[in-house]
Amino acid sequence: MRAVILSIGDELISGKTVDTNSAYLARQLGSMGIETLAHWTLGDDQAAIAAALTAAAAVGDVVIVSGGLGPTADDLTRQGLAEAMGTGLVLDEQRLAEIEDFFRRRGREMIAANRIQAMIPAGAQAIPNKVGTAPGIAATVGGKSVYVMPGVPYEMEWMFSNAIAPLLPRQAGVILYRIVHTFGQGESDIGTAIADLMKRDRNPTVGTTVAGGLVSVRIISRGEDERQARSLASETIAAVRLRLGKLVVGVEEQTMASVVGDLLRARGASLSVAESCTGGMIGQLVTATPGASDYYLGGLVAYANQVKIRQLGVPEDLIGRHGAVSEPVAEAMANGCRAMFQSTYALSITGIAGPAGGSEDKPVGLVYIGLAGPAGTVVFRHVLPGIRDIVRLRASLTALNHLRLCLRDRA
Ligand code: AMP
Ligand code: MG
Repeated sequence: MRAVILSIGDELISGKTVDTNSAYLARQLGSMGIETLAHWTLGDDQAAIAAALTAAAAVGDVVIVSGGLGPTADDLTRQGLAEAMGTGLVLDEQRLAEIEDFFRRRGREMIAANRIQAMIPAGAQAIPNKVGTAPGIAATVGGKSVYVMPGVPYEMEWMFSNAIAPLLPRQAGVILYRIVHTFGQGESDIGTAIADLMKRDRNPTVGTTVAGGLVSVRIISRGEDERQARSLASETIAAVRLRLGKLVVGVEEQTMASVVGDLLRARGASLSVAESCTGGMIGQLVTATPGASDYYLGGLVAYANQVKIRQLGVPEDLIGRHGAVSEPVAEAMANGCRAMFQSTYALSITGIAGPAGGSEDKPVGLVYIGLAGPAGTVVFRHVLPGIRDIVRLRASLTALNHLRLCLRDRA
């Protein structure tokens, strides 16, 4: 069984709102053994909605729709559905009573505009909504089942799991989506290392994606049941780990910073950072993980030389002799930071993020990363490709990755 997912709303087309409903629905459908054939996103246009519903019903076995059921004139999904069904809208008295009741319980009078939400195409069924005003709609287009839900993510999720999932036929199989995050090599290198796993006729299927500075390996596993799908996915993940070794940072929701955080916590160690060209980005990445206060003490944005000298104790003549972007300065920054914060580990970064400021021997993208810890201080030199924002992100991730590898070796 294969599904087409339609997301409807002008805010999705303009990019103001990112379509997260489709991702949720594809995951849920996959866990039920229903494969997602396509995600289609369209604006609030009645003719386009009608045409998309007709086309989706032609290629998919089931069509799952969210968005455009609101009470205002810009929400046209029910009209588009009626057009695709070749019928008109009729008032569902019971839904109207429910909507009126929804407002009454909140101490408010239902305004006339909400009446449209009790209208559904003739021949369709309303799906109750316990968490909002817009009922969903179950209908048939071109002989295929179509389910329409409100766009608000928590209403959509409630309706899908409580009212629609139970209606979908149980499939013989289960589809699982897994992901393994790597750092340190480009997408084509990763692709080469796991080329045989990426053969299209294989189960699980394996692909790669680049996002947020990491290369991720996506695994889609199909099994007769949950257990088989899981075990096939685990075998492939084990093969990926074997090939990629320490390039593997983590899986699923894990991030570079959360993995570093877990390693620090497990060792009872703490971290501080001294950042120049990244301007606080390492601190931002680290504190994005809940519970970071268990190990993160703080950071100093040492952007100006004066701050490196006065706050971190970097000798002025060191900057004079080697320049602020240099190995000895990165080392002194890391040592000064560790002493200032009294942390187990300290990371420092000094570099040239660009676009200006590069030279023959110090090009744009050059960064020195200092890592000070109980075993001493090391400095790493990198020349990172990309525009300013990318250099800053890569520098921050590279610094955390050095700490990750150091902690990993010190199990
Ligand atoms: P609607 O049901 O079309 O009135 O949508 C209500 C709100 O839900 C929109 O303004 C969006 O903020 C949000 N929304 C609608 N569709 C999606 C979607 N596919 N992904 C994430 N948010 C959505
Ligand atoms: Mg809308």
